[in-house]
Amino acid sequence: MDFDLFVIGGGSAGVRCGRIAAGLGARVGVAEERFWGGTCVNVGCVPKKLLVQAAEYGAQAADARGFGWDIAARAHDWAALLGAKDREIGRLNATYRSLLERAGATIFDARAAFLDPHRLIVGDREITAGRIVVATGGRPTRLPIQGAEHAIVSDDAFYLPTLPRRVVIMGSGYIAVEFAGIFAGLGAQVDLVYRQPLPLRGFDADLRQALAEALAASGIALHPQTSMRAIHRDGETRRAVLSDGREIAADAVFLATGRAPNTEGLGLERAGVATDANGAVRVDAEWRTSRAHIYAIGDVTDQLNLTPVATAQGHVLAERLFGETARSWDFTRVPTAVFSIPPMATVGLSEEEAAKTQPVEIFATGFTPMRHTLSGRARRTFMKLVVDEASQRVIGAHMLGEDAPEIMQGLAVAMTAGATKADFDRTVGIHPTAAEEFVTLRTLTRRAGPEPVRAA
Ligand code: NDP
Repeated sequence: MDFDLFVIGGGSAGVRCGRIAAGLGARVGVAEERFWGGTCVNVGCVPKKLLVQAAEYGAQAADARGFGWDIAARAHDWAALLGAKDREIGRLNATYRSLLERAGATIFDARAAFLDPHRLIVGDREITAGRIVVATGGRPTRLPIQGAEHAIVSDDAFYLPTLPRRVVIMGSGYIAVEFAGIFAGLGAQVDLVYRQPLPLRGFDADLRQALAEALAASGIALHPQTSMRAIHRDGETRRAVLSDGREIAADAVFLATGRAPNTEGLGLERAGVATDANGAVRVDAEWRTSRAHIYAIGDVTDQLNLTPVATAQGHVLAERLFGETARSWDFTRVPTAVFSIPPMATVGLSEEEAAKTQPVEIFATGFTPMRHTLSGRARRTFMKLVVDEASQRVIGAHMLGEDAPEIMQGLAVAMTAGATKADFDRTVGIHPTAAEEFVTLRTLTRRAGPEPVRAA
């Protein structure tokens, strides 16, 4: 065999897996056909967060007036922002590549596909490998509606030549909500169209309600329980036709309606690797596919499509295959954040999920953060803890408000360690912060879930 391990895909999962395996002495090859660092670095988390930060500055300039500053936010220079973003992404591409090279992996700027279970065609070379990892990620999909080709998807949104002044976004998942904030913050008129009563299906209902209010307060027009029937193009203008017959004219219609695993053309059938109806590679709990020596990690498995999950999977897999011990990660309580403006973050169970199976105590609070007492901005923070009544463990923590993702990371450590409500209560706060509210939530808001079984 030419390699002990060959990794297809140089994104978060593949780079980490290849780097750790090479560091452990394995002969490793990694192929990437598009861009090193994958979705997260190039058309996902990293540039998205830079755009969110750009979008926040305009509001911050206005907010500063309440503190005595006279900052006039003049026109925003979209081209300057994208140029700065592209330079940073270029730097990260090179970093990802050199991480692999320095670890001793052989890298291929080429597409790889299976010829048989141990043989791959990589660019114009044929190679063999003892073990193969599929880490090809996913891509945005388009709704099958008339005129879908006139819409943009998230990959396009990072390279628009000019900032659209009017944007209609379909969907209310992570991507839809994050880009709604970006475009609105940069001054565009944004219409958010989604088929649920509240955005972000799957998150805690109170948090979703707080988010809907925050989006509306920031001037985004919400169209709940609505979908999109067609998109028409008149020159540079697009017209989105909604399910209730209304039409909205815009400079861009953005379909943020989900992603699909990248498995087409990989020759998985020649290797005997099974996929599901959505094209995702099927794996067991140790990321083994239907062929014992072939593994799949990251978004291509369409499970928890989050970068830190993908990197953790790559790390553990490499250590299991080539190391003496493998570190453990807790994938049952994965914290996550949505970089809306303001952002939200969550770890553990929503009230609704928890209450299906156990009696829970809910502690919730909403307040105007200190900054906005002077800025005058109508922006509130919402926080909530879900506590298992029997064990008193905190099983869900949820926040919408400035710094929520930064705050939630610390709470996730406490919850991974099994902290109880009493542990939160005996923790001294840091004053004055929003975070301290999580350790001063004394008043029970309500109980939920089945009636607790009480000892007679
Ligand atoms: P999501 O799966 O999160 O959301 C898809 C959205 O599209 C939902 O609102 C869904 O509505 C809607 N939708 C799907 N099909 C249709 C349809 N036929 N008609 C109308 N609406 C439809 O996908 P995203 O593309 O936003 O993000 C993909 C994943 O990437 C996320 O789930 C997350 O794992 C990851 N991600 C993480 C980020 C982070 O960590 N901050 C940022 C961006 C992405 P409904 O709810 O009704 O199904």
